[in-house]
Amino acid sequence: MTTNTCDIAIVGGGPVGGLAACTLARAGYAVTLFERGAPPAPDAHANDTRGYALAAGSVQFLDDLGYWAPLAQRATAIRSIIVSRRGGLGRVHLNAADHGRQALGQVVPAVALEPMLDAACRDAGVDVRYQSTLADVGDVDNGRRPLRIRGPEGEGTWAARLILAADGIQSPTRKALGLPVNRLRYAADALVFDVQPARPHNGQAFERFTDEGPLALLPQADGRMNVVWVAPPEACEQRLERDEAERLRELQARFGWSLGRLRPAGRVVRFPLERVHAPEPAAERALLLGNAAHAVHPVAGQGLNLSLRDVATLLDALRADRAPDGRPRFTSDPGVATTLAAYARARQRDVTGVVATTDFLARGMLHAAGLRGHALGGGMMALDRLRPARDHIARAAMGLGPLPRHTARHLARPDTEGAA
Ligand SMILES: Cc1cc2nc3c(=O)[nH]c(=O)nc-3n(C[C@H](O)[C@H](O)[C@H](O)COP(=O)(O)OP(=O)(O)OC[C@H]3O[C@@H](n4cnc5c(N)ncnc54)[C@H](O)[C@@H]3O)c2cc1C
Repeated sequence: MTTNTCDIAIVGGGPVGGLAACTLARAGYAVTLFERGAPPAPDAHANDTRGYALAAGSVQFLDDLGYWAPLAQRATAIRSIIVSRRGGLGRVHLNAADHGRQALGQVVPAVALEPMLDAACRDAGVDVRYQSTLADVGDVDNGRRPLRIRGPEGEGTWAARLILAADGIQSPTRKALGLPVNRLRYAADALVFDVQPARPHNGQAFERFTDEGPLALLPQADGRMNVVWVAPPEACEQRLERDEAERLRELQARFGWSLGRLRPAGRVVRFPLERVHAPEPAAERALLLGNAAHAVHPVAGQGLNLSLRDVATLLDALRADRAPDGRPRFTSDPGVATTLAAYARARQRDVTGVVATTDFLARGMLHAAGLRGHALGGGMMALDRLRPARDHIARAAMGLGPLPRHTARHLARPDTEGAA
Protein backbone atom coordinates (compact mmCIF):
# COMPACT_ATOMS: atom_id res chain seq x y z
CA MET A 1 0.00 0.00 0.00
CA THR A 2 1.47 3.42 -0.95
CA THR A 3 1.81 6.01 1.77
CA ASN A 4 0.57 9.52 1.01
CA THR A 5 2.40 12.37 2.70
CA CYS A 6 1.32 15.81 3.85
CA ASP A 7 2.55 18.43 6.32
CA ILE A 8 -0.58 18.48 8.46
CA ALA A 9 -3.33 15.83 8.64
CA ILE A 10 -6.51 16.97 10.38
CA VAL A 11 -9.04 14.43 11.64
CA GLY A 12 -12.51 15.98 11.95
CA GLY A 13 -14.00 18.62 9.67
CA GLY A 14 -16.31 20.35 12.17
CA PRO A 15 -15.99 24.11 12.73
CA VAL A 16 -12.59 23.76 14.40
CA GLY A 17 -10.98 21.26 11.99
CA GLY A 18 -12.42 23.17 9.03
CA LEU A 19 -11.09 26.53 10.20
CA ALA A 20 -7.69 25.09 11.16
CA ALA A 21 -7.42 23.43 7.72
CA CYS A 22 -8.05 26.51 5.56
CA THR A 23 -5.98 28.77 7.81
CA LEU A 24 -2.95 26.46 7.92
CA ALA A 25 -3.13 25.83 4.17
CA ARG A 26 -2.97 29.60 3.69
CA ALA A 27 0.14 29.59 5.86
CA GLY A 28 1.72 27.43 3.15
CA TYR A 29 1.34 23.93 4.61
CA ALA A 30 0.10 20.92 2.61
CA VAL A 31 -3.03 20.04 4.58
CA THR A 32 -5.27 16.98 4.29
CA LEU A 33 -8.61 17.05 6.11
CA PHE A 34 -10.50 13.84 6.93
CA GLU A 35 -14.18 14.15 7.83
CA ARG A 36 -16.35 11.11 8.43
CA GLY A 37 -19.54 12.93 7.29
CA ALA A 38 -20.68 13.73 3.76
CA PRO A 39 -19.95 17.08 2.04
CA PRO A 40 -22.39 19.80 3.11
CA ALA A 41 -25.36 20.08 0.75
CA PRO A 42 -25.91 23.79 0.01
CA ASP A 43 -29.61 23.84 0.89
CA ALA A 44 -29.61 21.08 3.50
CA HIS A 45 -31.75 21.74 6.53
CA ALA A 46 -29.26 20.26 8.91
CA ASN A 47 -29.79 18.43 12.16
CA ASP A 48 -27.95 21.21 13.92
CA THR A 49 -30.42 23.85 15.13
CA ARG A 50 -27.83 25.76 17.19
CA GLY A 51 -27.11 29.42 16.78
CA TYR A 52 -23.50 30.01 17.83
CA ALA A 53 -23.00 33.09 19.99
CA LEU A 54 -19.62 34.32 18.79
CA ALA A 55 -17.91 36.84 21.04
CA ALA A 56 -16.66 40.09 19.52
CA GLY A 57 -13.07 38.75 19.74
CA SER A 58 -13.99 35.67 17.66
CA VAL A 59 -15.73 37.81 15.06
CA GLN A 60 -12.61 39.98 14.87
CA PHE A 61 -10.41 36.90 14.33
CA LEU A 62 -12.68 35.57 11.54
CA ASP A 63 -12.72 39.03 9.99
CA ASP A 64 -8.91 39.24 10.13
CA LEU A 65 -8.83 35.98 8.18
CA GLY A 66 -11.37 37.27 5.65
CA TYR A 67 -14.01 34.72 6.70
CA TRP A 68 -16.46 37.03 8.41
CA ALA A 69 -17.94 38.64 5.25
CA PRO A 70 -19.63 35.43 4.01
CA LEU A 71 -21.10 34.82 7.49
CA ALA A 72 -22.15 38.40 8.23
CA GLN A 73 -25.26 38.22 6.06
CA ARG A 74 -26.61 35.36 8.24
CA ALA A 75 -25.47 36.81 11.56
CA THR A 76 -27.45 38.77 14.16
CA ALA A 77 -25.78 41.27 16.47
CA ILE A 78 -26.04 40.86 20.26
CA ARG A 79 -26.48 44.43 21.49
CA SER A 80 -27.18 43.58 25.11
CA ILE A 81 -27.26 40.57 27.45
CA ILE A 82 -29.68 40.28 30.35
CA VAL A 83 -28.65 37.80 33.03
CA SER A 84 -31.34 36.93 35.57
CA ARG A 85 -32.50 34.24 37.95
CA ARG A 86 -35.96 32.72 37.77
CA GLY A 87 -37.99 33.42 40.92
CA GLY A 88 -35.34 35.79 42.26
CA LEU A 89 -34.59 39.47 42.47
CA GLY A 90 -31.88 41.23 40.60
CA ARG A 91 -30.44 41.01 37.16
CA VAL A 92 -27.33 42.10 35.34
CA HIS A 93 -27.69 44.10 32.16
CA LEU A 94 -24.67 44.26 29.85
CA ASN A 95 -24.88 46.79 27.04
CA ALA A 96 -22.54 47.01 24.05
CA ALA A 97 -23.08 50.79 23.91
CA ASP A 98 -21.71 51.16 27.48
CA HIS A 99 -18.44 49.76 26.15
CA GLY A 100 -18.30 51.92 23.04
CA ARG A 101 -19.27 49.01 20.80
CA GLN A 102 -22.15 48.25 18.50
CA ALA A 103 -22.30 44.59 19.51
CA LEU A 104 -21.08 42.31 22.30
CA GLY A 105 -21.00 39.49 19.78
CA GLN A 106 -22.92 37.92 16.91
CA VAL A 107 -25.14 34.87 16.59
CA VAL A 108 -24.40 32.70 13.55
CA PRO A 109 -26.52 29.65 12.67
CA ALA A 110 -24.39 26.51 12.94
CA VAL A 111 -25.60 25.48 9.47
CA ALA A 112 -23.99 28.59 7.96
CA LEU A 113 -20.49 27.67 9.12
CA GLU A 114 -20.13 24.33 7.36
CA PRO A 115 -20.56 25.48 3.72
CA MET A 116 -18.45 28.60 4.36
CA LEU A 117 -15.56 26.51 5.70
CA ASP A 118 -15.92 23.91 2.95
CA ALA A 119 -15.56 26.66 0.32
CA ALA A 120 -12.67 28.25 2.26
CA CYS A 121 -10.82 24.90 2.39
CA ARG A 122 -11.20 24.39 -1.33
CA ASP A 123 -10.04 27.95 -2.08
CA ALA A 124 -7.00 27.46 0.14
CA GLY A 125 -6.06 24.17 -1.60
CA VAL A 126 -6.82 21.81 1.31
CA ASP A 127 -7.10 18.16 0.24
CA VAL A 128 -10.59 17.58 1.72
CA ARG A 129 -11.69 13.98 2.08
CA TYR A 130 -15.26 13.38 3.17
CA GLN A 131 -16.68 10.02 4.31
CA SER A 132 -13.20 9.28 5.61
CA THR A 133 -12.80 7.94 9.13
CA LEU A 134 -9.71 7.46 11.23
CA ALA A 135 -8.87 3.76 11.65
CA ASP A 136 -5.59 4.04 13.52
CA VAL A 137 -2.61 6.24 14.40
CA GLY A 138 0.89 4.73 14.35
CA ASP A 139 4.18 5.59 16.04
CA VAL A 140 6.36 8.41 14.73
CA ASP A 141 8.83 7.25 12.12
CA ASN A 142 11.42 9.44 10.47
CA GLY A 143 9.79 12.71 11.55
CA ARG A 144 6.28 11.75 10.49
CA ARG A 145 3.27 10.27 12.25
CA PRO A 146 1.39 7.65 10.18
CA LEU A 147 -2.40 7.31 10.17
CA ARG A 148 -4.73 4.81 8.56
CA ILE A 149 -7.94 6.14 7.07
CA ARG A 150 -11.04 4.29 5.90
CA GLY A 151 -12.52 6.19 2.96
CA PRO A 152 -15.02 5.62 0.17
CA GLU A 153 -12.36 3.78 -1.87
CA GLY A 154 -11.16 1.57 0.95
CA GLU A 155 -8.27 1.97 3.34
CA GLY A 156 -5.34 4.35 2.79
CA THR A 157 -2.22 5.35 4.69
CA TRP A 158 -0.92 8.86 5.28
CA ALA A 159 2.18 10.15 7.03
CA ALA A 160 2.08 13.71 8.40
CA ARG A 161 4.56 15.94 10.17
CA LEU A 162 1.71 16.92 12.47
CA ILE A 163 -1.69 15.36 13.19
CA LEU A 164 -4.42 17.62 14.52
CA ALA A 165 -7.24 15.83 16.31
CA ALA A 166 -10.37 17.97 15.81
CA ASP A 167 -12.74 15.02 15.98
CA GLY A 168 -15.00 16.20 18.79
CA ILE A 169 -15.83 15.06 22.32
CA GLN A 170 -15.36 11.33 21.70
CA SER A 171 -12.17 11.95 19.66
CA PRO A 172 -11.06 8.52 18.40
CA THR A 173 -7.73 10.21 17.56
CA ARG A 174 -7.21 11.25 21.21
CA LYS A 175 -7.93 7.68 22.20
CA ALA A 176 -5.53 6.26 19.60
CA LEU A 177 -2.80 8.64 20.83
CA GLY A 178 -3.38 7.50 24.41
CA LEU A 179 -3.76 11.05 25.75
CA PRO A 180 -5.49 11.16 29.16
CA VAL A 181 -8.76 13.05 29.54
CA ASN A 182 -11.05 14.12 32.40
CA ARG A 183 -14.71 13.66 31.52
CA LEU A 184 -17.91 14.48 33.35
CA ARG A 185 -21.36 13.74 31.93
CA TYR A 186 -23.57 16.54 33.27
CA ALA A 187 -26.94 15.38 34.61
CA ALA A 188 -28.44 17.61 31.94
CA ASP A 189 -29.21 17.83 28.22
CA ALA A 190 -30.01 20.86 26.09
CA LEU A 191 -33.06 21.23 23.87
CA VAL A 192 -32.25 23.67 21.07
CA PHE A 193 -34.83 25.24 18.77
CA ASP A 194 -36.07 28.55 17.34
CA VAL A 195 -39.09 30.51 18.52
CA GLN A 196 -40.80 33.54 17.08
CA PRO A 197 -41.61 36.09 19.81
CA ALA A 198 -44.47 38.56 19.40
CA ARG A 199 -42.19 41.52 20.26
CA PRO A 200 -38.94 42.47 18.48
CA HIS A 201 -35.83 41.25 20.27
CA ASN A 202 -33.81 44.39 19.45
CA GLY A 203 -30.62 42.37 19.63
CA GLN A 204 -31.15 41.33 23.26
CA ALA A 205 -29.81 37.98 24.49
CA PHE A 206 -31.11 36.43 27.70
CA GLU A 207 -29.37 34.06 30.11
CA ARG A 208 -31.80 32.95 32.80
CA PHE A 209 -30.72 30.67 35.63
CA THR A 210 -33.55 28.35 36.68
CA ASP A 211 -33.83 25.57 39.25
CA GLU A 212 -33.13 22.99 36.50
CA GLY A 213 -30.32 24.77 34.68
CA PRO A 214 -29.66 27.78 32.48
CA LEU A 215 -32.12 28.86 29.81
CA ALA A 216 -30.74 31.05 27.04
CA LEU A 217 -32.50 32.92 24.25
CA LEU A 218 -30.27 34.32 21.52
CA PRO A 219 -31.39 36.82 18.88
CA GLN A 220 -31.66 35.48 15.35
CA ALA A 221 -32.59 36.76 11.90
CA ASP A 222 -36.24 37.57 11.08
CA GLY A 223 -37.01 38.38 14.70
CA ARG A 224 -36.59 34.75 15.81
CA MET A 225 -34.83 33.68 19.02
CA ASN A 226 -32.70 30.56 19.36
CA VAL A 227 -33.55 28.74 22.60
CA VAL A 228 -31.00 26.66 24.53
CA TRP A 229 -33.04 25.03 27.28
CA VAL A 230 -30.93 23.02 29.71
CA ALA A 231 -32.66 20.53 32.02
CA PRO A 232 -32.23 17.01 33.45
CA PRO A 233 -32.44 14.32 30.73
CA GLU A 234 -35.81 13.02 32.02
CA ALA A 235 -37.36 16.50 31.81
CA CYS A 236 -35.99 16.91 28.26
CA GLU A 237 -37.44 13.51 27.33
CA GLN A 238 -40.89 14.50 28.61
CA ARG A 239 -40.77 17.85 26.82
CA LEU A 240 -39.85 16.15 23.57
CA GLU A 241 -42.84 13.82 23.94
CA ARG A 242 -45.26 16.71 24.51
CA ASP A 243 -46.90 18.53 21.64
CA GLU A 244 -45.39 21.78 20.49
CA ALA A 245 -48.04 24.04 22.06
CA GLU A 246 -47.64 22.44 25.47
CA ARG A 247 -43.83 22.66 25.26
CA LEU A 248 -44.05 26.34 24.38
CA ARG A 249 -46.44 27.02 27.28
CA GLU A 250 -43.91 25.55 29.68
CA LEU A 251 -41.07 27.51 28.12
CA GLN A 252 -43.13 30.68 28.40
CA ALA A 253 -43.81 30.01 32.08
CA ARG A 254 -40.07 29.60 32.69
CA PHE A 255 -38.86 32.47 30.54
CA GLY A 256 -41.62 35.02 31.16
CA TRP A 257 -43.38 37.52 28.92
CA SER A 258 -40.76 40.20 28.28
CA LEU A 259 -40.82 39.32 24.55
CA GLY A 260 -44.57 38.68 24.44
CA ARG A 261 -45.99 35.34 23.31
CA LEU A 262 -43.42 32.84 21.98
CA ARG A 263 -44.49 30.77 18.97
CA PRO A 264 -42.71 27.68 17.62
CA ALA A 265 -40.44 28.27 14.60
CA GLY A 266 -38.62 25.03 13.80
CA ARG A 267 -37.60 21.59 14.91
CA VAL A 268 -36.19 20.69 18.31
CA VAL A 269 -32.82 18.94 18.65
CA ARG A 270 -31.46 17.46 21.86
CA PHE A 271 -27.78 17.64 22.84
CA PRO A 272 -26.32 15.60 25.73
CA LEU A 273 -23.96 17.76 27.78
CA GLU A 274 -20.50 16.75 28.84
CA ARG A 275 -17.39 18.41 30.22
CA VAL A 276 -14.16 17.18 28.66
CA HIS A 277 -10.68 18.38 29.47
CA ALA A 278 -7.45 16.85 28.23
CA PRO A 279 -4.86 18.39 30.59
CA GLU A 280 -2.05 17.68 28.12
CA PRO A 281 -3.20 18.45 24.54
CA ALA A 282 0.13 17.59 22.87
CA ALA A 283 1.73 14.25 21.99
CA GLU A 284 4.67 13.49 19.72
CA ARG A 285 3.74 15.14 16.39
CA ALA A 286 0.08 15.41 17.40
CA LEU A 287 -2.17 18.00 18.99
CA LEU A 288 -5.77 18.07 20.22
CA LEU A 289 -7.91 21.04 19.18
CA GLY A 290 -11.47 22.17 19.96
CA ASN A 291 -13.88 19.74 21.59
CA ALA A 292 -11.30 16.94 21.41
CA ALA A 293 -9.21 18.96 23.91
CA HIS A 294 -11.95 20.71 25.91
CA ALA A 295 -15.74 20.59 25.71
CA VAL A 296 -17.61 22.86 28.07
CA HIS A 297 -21.20 23.36 29.20
CA PRO A 298 -23.05 25.66 26.76
CA VAL A 299 -23.91 28.19 29.51
CA ALA A 300 -22.53 31.56 28.36
CA GLY A 301 -21.77 30.17 24.86
CA GLN A 302 -18.02 29.78 25.33
CA GLY A 303 -17.07 26.46 23.63
CA LEU A 304 -16.50 27.48 20.05
CA ASN A 305 -15.06 30.83 21.10
CA LEU A 306 -12.47 28.97 23.18
CA SER A 307 -11.71 26.70 20.22
CA LEU A 308 -11.25 29.58 17.80
CA ARG A 309 -8.58 30.83 20.20
CA ASP A 310 -6.91 27.39 19.84
CA VAL A 311 -6.64 27.96 16.09
CA ALA A 312 -5.41 31.55 16.51
CA THR A 313 -2.75 30.46 19.01
CA LEU A 314 -1.57 27.53 16.88
CA LEU A 315 -1.19 29.79 13.86
CA ASP A 316 0.89 32.15 15.98
CA ALA A 317 3.00 29.33 17.48
CA LEU A 318 3.92 28.17 13.97
CA ARG A 319 5.17 31.59 12.91
CA ALA A 320 8.96 31.59 12.57
CA ASP A 321 9.52 35.27 11.82
CA ARG A 322 8.29 38.09 9.62
CA ALA A 323 9.32 38.97 6.09
CA PRO A 324 10.55 42.55 5.50
CA ASP A 325 7.03 43.46 4.29
CA GLY A 326 5.56 42.37 7.66
CA ARG A 327 4.09 39.12 6.34
CA PRO A 328 4.49 36.14 8.66
CA ARG A 329 6.80 33.30 7.65
CA PHE A 330 6.05 29.88 9.10
CA THR A 331 8.29 27.07 10.33
CA SER A 332 8.90 24.44 7.65
CA ASP A 333 8.20 21.57 10.09
CA PRO A 334 4.95 22.19 12.01
CA GLY A 335 5.29 19.15 14.30
CA VAL A 336 8.46 20.04 16.23
CA ALA A 337 8.11 19.22 19.96
CA THR A 338 9.14 22.68 21.21
CA THR A 339 6.47 24.36 19.05
CA LEU A 340 3.75 22.00 20.33
CA ALA A 341 4.90 22.52 23.93
CA ALA A 342 4.81 26.32 23.44
CA TYR A 343 1.27 26.01 22.07
CA ALA A 344 0.16 23.89 25.05
CA ARG A 345 1.66 26.39 27.51
CA ALA A 346 0.02 29.31 25.76
CA ARG A 347 -3.42 27.70 25.91
CA GLN A 348 -3.36 26.36 29.46
CA ARG A 349 -4.69 29.37 31.38
CA ASP A 350 -7.53 30.25 29.02
CA VAL A 351 -8.71 26.63 28.73
CA THR A 352 -8.62 25.79 32.45
CA GLY A 353 -10.28 29.14 33.23
CA VAL A 354 -13.20 28.62 30.84
CA VAL A 355 -13.65 24.97 31.86
CA ALA A 356 -13.82 26.00 35.54
CA THR A 357 -16.04 29.07 35.04
CA THR A 358 -18.61 27.34 32.85
CA ASP A 359 -18.65 24.39 35.25
CA PHE A 360 -19.33 26.75 38.15
CA LEU A 361 -22.08 28.56 36.24
CA ALA A 362 -23.67 25.26 35.20
CA ARG A 363 -23.55 23.51 38.55
CA GLY A 364 -23.01 26.17 41.20
CA MET A 365 -25.89 28.36 40.04
CA LEU A 366 -28.16 25.32 39.85
CA HIS A 367 -28.09 24.99 43.59
CA ALA A 368 -28.51 28.67 44.33
CA ALA A 369 -31.88 28.26 45.99
CA GLY A 370 -33.32 29.53 49.28
CA LEU A 371 -31.06 31.83 51.26
CA ARG A 372 -28.19 31.47 48.85
CA GLY A 373 -30.63 32.32 46.09
CA HIS A 374 -31.57 35.59 47.80
CA ALA A 375 -27.91 36.32 48.36
CA LEU A 376 -27.36 35.69 44.66
CA GLY A 377 -30.22 38.03 43.74
CA GLY A 378 -28.70 40.72 45.95
CA GLY A 379 -25.31 40.00 44.41
CA MET A 380 -26.73 40.43 40.94
CA MET A 381 -28.32 43.75 41.85
CA ALA A 382 -25.06 44.96 43.36
CA LEU A 383 -23.13 43.76 40.33
CA ASP A 384 -25.49 45.59 38.00
CA ARG A 385 -24.61 48.85 39.77
CA LEU A 386 -20.88 48.16 40.04
CA ARG A 387 -19.34 49.47 36.85
CA PRO A 388 -15.84 47.85 37.09
CA ALA A 389 -17.31 44.41 37.83
CA ARG A 390 -19.79 44.74 34.98
CA ASP A 391 -17.00 45.87 32.66
CA HIS A 392 -15.01 42.79 33.59
CA ILE A 393 -17.92 40.46 32.79
CA ALA A 394 -18.64 42.32 29.55
CA ARG A 395 -15.01 41.98 28.43
CA ALA A 396 -15.14 38.25 29.16
CA ALA A 397 -18.44 37.94 27.25
CA MET A 398 -16.91 39.79 24.30
CA GLY A 399 -13.88 37.48 24.34
CA LEU A 400 -11.53 40.43 23.98
CA GLY A 401 -8.64 38.76 25.75
CA PRO A 402 -5.11 38.82 24.39
CA LEU A 403 -5.83 37.10 21.07
CA PRO A 404 -2.76 37.02 18.81
CA ARG A 405 -4.07 38.96 15.79
CA HIS A 406 -1.09 40.04 13.74
CA THR A 407 -0.47 36.64 12.10
CA ALA A 408 -4.10 36.19 11.05
CA ARG A 409 -4.33 39.72 9.69
CA HIS A 410 -1.27 39.30 7.50
CA LEU A 411 -1.93 35.77 6.25
CA ALA A 412 -1.81 35.46 2.47
CA ARG A 413 -5.24 35.48 0.80
CA PRO A 414 -5.94 32.30 -1.20
CA ASP A 415 -5.74 34.25 -4.47
CA THR A 416 -2.37 35.83 -3.65
CA GLU A 417 1.08 34.31 -3.31
CA GLY A 418 1.80 31.91 -0.38
CA ALA A 419 3.36 33.33 2.75
CA ALA A 420 5.61 30.43 3.67
C1 LIG B 1 -26.31 23.05 22.94
C2 LIG B 1 -24.98 23.68 22.61
C3 LIG B 1 -24.92 25.03 22.32
C4 LIG B 1 -23.68 25.64 22.05
N1 LIG B 1 -23.63 26.97 21.80
C5 LIG B 1 -22.44 27.59 21.64
C6 LIG B 1 -22.37 29.01 21.46
O1 LIG B 1 -23.39 29.71 21.43
N2 LIG B 1 -21.14 29.57 21.31
C7 LIG B 1 -20.00 28.84 21.35
O2 LIG B 1 -18.91 29.41 21.25
N3 LIG B 1 -20.04 27.49 21.50
C8 LIG B 1 -21.22 26.85 21.65
N4 LIG B 1 -21.26 25.48 21.79
C9 LIG B 1 -20.00 24.71 21.71
C10 LIG B 1 -19.67 24.29 20.25
O3 LIG B 1 -20.72 23.51 19.75
C11 LIG B 1 -18.37 23.48 20.20
O4 LIG B 1 -17.36 24.24 20.80
C12 LIG B 1 -17.95 23.16 18.77
O5 LIG B 1 -18.91 22.34 18.15
C13 LIG B 1 -16.62 22.43 18.74
O6 LIG B 1 -16.31 22.11 17.41
P1 LIG B 1 -15.32 20.92 17.02
O7 LIG B 1 -15.07 21.09 15.55
O8 LIG B 1 -14.19 20.87 17.96
O9 LIG B 1 -16.15 19.58 17.30
P2 LIG B 1 -17.42 19.00 16.57
O10 LIG B 1 -18.35 20.10 16.21
O11 LIG B 1 -17.93 17.90 17.42
O12 LIG B 1 -16.85 18.38 15.20
C14 LIG B 1 -16.10 17.18 15.19
C15 LIG B 1 -16.08 16.65 13.77
O13 LIG B 1 -15.25 15.49 13.73
C16 LIG B 1 -15.86 14.49 12.92
N5 LIG B 1 -15.34 13.18 13.36
C17 LIG B 1 -15.55 12.55 14.54
N6 LIG B 1 -14.88 11.39 14.60
C18 LIG B 1 -14.23 11.27 13.43
C19 LIG B 1 -13.35 10.28 12.88
N7 LIG B 1 -13.03 9.16 13.57
N8 LIG B 1 -12.84 10.48 11.64
C20 LIG B 1 -13.16 11.60 10.93
N9 LIG B 1 -13.99 12.56 11.40
C21 LIG B 1 -14.51 12.41 12.63
C22 LIG B 1 -17.35 14.69 13.16
O14 LIG B 1 -18.13 14.15 12.10
C23 LIG B 1 -17.46 16.22 13.26
O15 LIG B 1 -17.68 16.82 12.02
C24 LIG B 1 -22.49 24.86 22.06
C25 LIG B 1 -22.56 23.48 22.33
C26 LIG B 1 -23.79 22.90 22.61
C27 LIG B 1 -23.84 21.43 22.92
